Amino acid sequence: MQPQPLVLANWKLNGDRQLVTSMVSALRDAADSLHGVNVGICPPAIYIPALTEACYYDAIGVGVQHISEHPKGAYTGELAVSMVKEFGVDYVLIGHSERRSLYQESDQQVAAKVAQVTSAGLTAVVCVGESEAQREAGETLTVVKAQLAAALQGLAQSSPALLVIAYEPVWAIGTGQTATPEQAQQVHAEIRSWLQQQLGDAGKDITLLYGGSVKPDNAAELFAQADINGGLIGGASLVADDFIAICQAA
Ligand code: PEP
Repeated sequence: MQPQPLVLANWKLNGDRQLVTSMVSALRDAADSLHGVNVGICPPAIYIPALTEACYYDAIGVGVQHISEHPKGAYTGELAVSMVKEFGVDYVLIGHSERRSLYQESDQQVAAKVAQVTSAGLTAVVCVGESEAQREAGETLTVVKAQLAAALQGLAQSSPALLVIAYEPVWAIGTGQTATPEQAQQVHAEIRSWLQQQLGDAGKDITLLYGGSVKPDNAAELFAQADINGGLIGGASLVADDFIAICQAA
């Protein structure tokens, strides 16, 4: 059985309180067209309480874009899993390419964060993907599999049901240059088969998202691919009509 479709909004360093309320209200109005699709929003962390309050009666998941790999201590500016859990967070993005490139988030940190998140019972959304140079050098699968291995190392004893993988080719993020459905499906199929080799049948049930310039006009074709179970949406998740159209395509 295919995992249930999931579409997550990654607002990055964008949005405000007004966007929280207007997005929740637009998703509520569209709820009848979104049956069977899990939808979640990852706003900047300061808006989490406003989001959990606004969507208290709605089937909208709440996510954070970043957490510490440490449970507590002298780490100025960081947020621990136990803290975001207290505020009703369901999903935690880990290893986004912007965190990897701008803040040097390593595979070791990814593994430590997956361990923190899944042992707390939250869902770890691990982002993997190659740069343009790596794709041109034929290294896509080597890079992606090394990133996946770090995620599984962190998963350790936790349930694979708490793991979501987002394949996001770095060259497609925020560039308007989407992977073709065939390019995306090819990597997703490899990810699926690698997960099955490592985890057996549980690997079949892991949700695989595609991310990288998904828009209302290319979402349906991407989500129609056999191993693409939804999307991680950046720019287009800031406009309610666009985000809802993408969720409807899932
Ligand atoms: C992302 O940041 O995860 C992303 C996919 O961004 P965009 O949709 O803007 O390419």
